[in-house]
Amino acid sequence: MPELLSLGECMIELFADRPLAEATTLIKTFGGDTCNALVAAARLGTSTGFITRVGDDPFRDFLLHAWRREGIDTSLCRIVPGFNGLYLIALGNNGAREFIYYRSGSAASTLEPADLDQEALRQCRMLLVSGISQAISVTARAAVQVASGIVHRHGGDVAYDPNFRPRLWNAEEARAALTALLPTIAIALPSAPEESDLLLGVTDPAEIADFYLSHGVKIVAVKCGERGVFVADEGASCWVEAVPPRQVIDTSGAGDTFNGAFLHAILRGFSLRTAAQLGATAASLKVEGRGAVASQPRGPQVWERLKAYYG
Ligand code: ADP
Repeated sequence: MPELLSLGECMIELFADRPLAEATTLIKTFGGDTCNALVAAARLGTSTGFITRVGDDPFRDFLLHAWRREGIDTSLCRIVPGFNGLYLIALGNNGAREFIYYRSGSAASTLEPADLDQEALRQCRMLLVSGISQAISVTARAAVQVASGIVHRHGGDVAYDPNFRPRLWNAEEARAALTALLPTIAIALPSAPEESDLLLGVTDPAEIADFYLSHGVKIVAVKCGERGVFVADEGASCWVEAVPPRQVIDTSGAGDTFNGAFLHAILRGFSLRTAAQLGATAASLKVEGRGAVASQPRGPQVWERLKAYYG
């Protein structure tokens, strides 16, 4: 049984290094918040598994093989008739990025509670879910709720990244979904200031952490971009500063990389500070390269940079 499971949608990514209006070549890869975090954890040595629906289009085998190559167990993935979600990213001339998503009605968005393997969830040590997993459809939201409830009731830890995307739903819906899930959440991984402002009306990292802790969450890591991360549990809190990257090429997926590395450390019983340092170091290495997955670092590189920076 993998140490870390996650549930959500992973899409095909098509990347162009020029604006879409001009690009003639698109490079195929994959990406999706909860899946990106699994790659980050797997590259550090955690055993991982993904819960999703995969459409039976020509991308089915590409996705399954790519996940397996990253060490992600796919036995909890259900193959169904339908298409896999897709997004395009293009780099504009002035460094701006264009994003286009084709995900509405995708196979993953039809995930429902009946897809869940109850026994696997009862044995699960840690499950990562996100606001995106909840936002993609009403049935996926129900699957997140049921899966988290089972893991929580059987002594596993549910980790939650609100990852609020106004494109997918509004703040009121997201708040209601968060409120419903809160009693099951052990580890919260919010971002500040924008996301927490929209969701909770709070921007101060210590106040954001207090919100989650006062609702029974055990560990909170508030990701604050270049400012670093504020971590807290019932007994203590601290700031861990960000690791300056040698160059910033692409910050997309930095939060997912942080999540995967942080959860890898928590599963190994490391202190909150060390877990946050590992997350911040892995995320810093990720932003030095392009893509949410391709530029994710591996274990030795992360530990070497962590020691060089934090001592
Ligand atoms: P999210 O993608 O969820 O909004 P953040 O942007 O806060 O998350 O990034 C997560 C973590 O990645 C940060 O806490 C920080 O440690 C690291 N990080 C992100 N952007 C940078 C950057 N430009 N330089 C250094 N570290 C960064």
